[in-house]
Amino acid sequence: MVRVRFAPSPTGFLHIGAARTCFFNWLYARNQDGTFILRIEDTDMARSSEEMTEGIIECLNWLGLDWDEGPIFQSQRLSQYRQKALELVEKGLAYTCYCTPEEIQERTKKTAGTGDFWGYDRFCLELSEKQRLRFESEGRAKAVRFLVPEGEIRYTDRIHGDISVDSKNIEDFVLLRGDGLPTYHLSVVVDDMESQITHVIRGDDHISNTPKQILLYQAFGAKSPKFAHLALILGPDKKKLSKRHGGTSVLEFRDQGYLPLAFLNFLAQMSWSPGEERIYTLEELGGKFALNKVSKGSPVFDLNKMEWLNGRLISGMSAEELTPFVRKEMQASNLWQETFAEKQKPWFDKLLDLLKERSRTIRAFPKAAMPFLIDEIAYDPAGVEKHLRDERLDTLLPLLGKDFLSMDEFSAPAIEQVLRKRAEEEGVKAALLIHALRMLVVGEPVSPGIFDVLELAGREKTLKRMNRLSEVKSLVDKKGG
Ligand code: GLU
Repeated sequence: MVRVRFAPSPTGFLHIGAARTCFFNWLYARNQDGTFILRIEDTDMARSSEEMTEGIIECLNWLGLDWDEGPIFQSQRLSQYRQKALELVEKGLAYTCYCTPEEIQERTKKTAGTGDFWGYDRFCLELSEKQRLRFESEGRAKAVRFLVPEGEIRYTDRIHGDISVDSKNIEDFVLLRGDGLPTYHLSVVVDDMESQITHVIRGDDHISNTPKQILLYQAFGAKSPKFAHLALILGPDKKKLSKRHGGTSVLEFRDQGYLPLAFLNFLAQMSWSPGEERIYTLEELGGKFALNKVSKGSPVFDLNKMEWLNGRLISGMSAEELTPFVRKEMQASNLWQETFAEKQKPWFDKLLDLLKERSRTIRAFPKAAMPFLIDEIAYDPAGVEKHLRDERLDTLLPLLGKDFLSMDEFSAPAIEQVLRKRAEEEGVKAALLIHALRMLVVGEPVSPGIFDVLELAGREKTLKRMNRLSEVKSLVDKKGG
């Protein structure tokens, strides 16, 4: 039975790499009908905070990644770690160390360059009783160090393949610090043993920790879990992903208008290819996931791909599904009206259906919806220059306005018919009228299909804005001058 865990340290915001680790553990658990455990590694009291823990949980909730057990808080398990460390001391597999960091540094300096040993010199391994008593009477802080046994440590990483490390490259590392707190190696192994974790899936910044942890499993007489280390995510410039690549904290993506499913598809498709490039449901991704499909090489974070996936997801959603997301965004821009969910719902749904085709983020909706909601829109000056300066428009637009007024039903197909007829009668290209209408009604040279736009804007708004031709031109003149 597969048991996996996500074990973040609440010392910062959940970033993309951690979200991927979490997601891949989740996928593996779902794929294998296993158990997914959440563990908060908060033994670093100075750097951990409740606020960060809450932030992590908020992220997981937003992403919809649910856990089956936990959260387990390491800070509540300190006595267990201590007991396990002492168990190893008892067995002669670890020892008490009284050295201060200064003493260690001093001795290391002295022996530097005199041999190939570089780590802790095992000063406290064979202390005489007298020395030990002296240190005790001095009231020195006691750490517990692991006695690293000789030999080769081998394991098969599920992603990177066979790995072996000679233990002579590992110093007797600390298990319990002088202040009684466990080190990461101790707490992680104790907890993974207790939770009966079968697979440790984590970032490959931990790859150098794994041999130490395998030694600990051996010392405890426990079976090591299988390991899978996920390659570090890089920015498009092949450097370690950072803020300047467009946000690294997961909640930033939420705030920028990305949807959880698009974000998760992005994480998945960055490291393995589930097939075609499209949006998969979580069930589909869970069904397809396999550790040996995950690429060894560092995936590159590509914001365009993320945007594209988000856009694909948005355009495939119904107005009903989009409304809660858009509503929040519009509320934040003071554009939301309750009638959109009531009396005006059919109209609002149509509007969403129109806007979703061109919206790559939820955040794009309020701006795109603006021309349909407010009176005073802004006009793109270059668009005005390009599409409103033709003098023929001075007579054509009033004629078209009259046509619009005489229509029975102001619907997209009828508008198109009337406009094309007028263009033909006047011997001009329909595009001349279409571009002008778009500039006047939307304020931008690009928009969704103009006939749908006009229908949704409604006859009154359309006519009012068509009448503004000279006003808009002089507005731009003034600004330009
Ligand atoms: N707490 C560690 C981290 O946030 C993860 C430990 C692990 O997965 O073994 O990097």
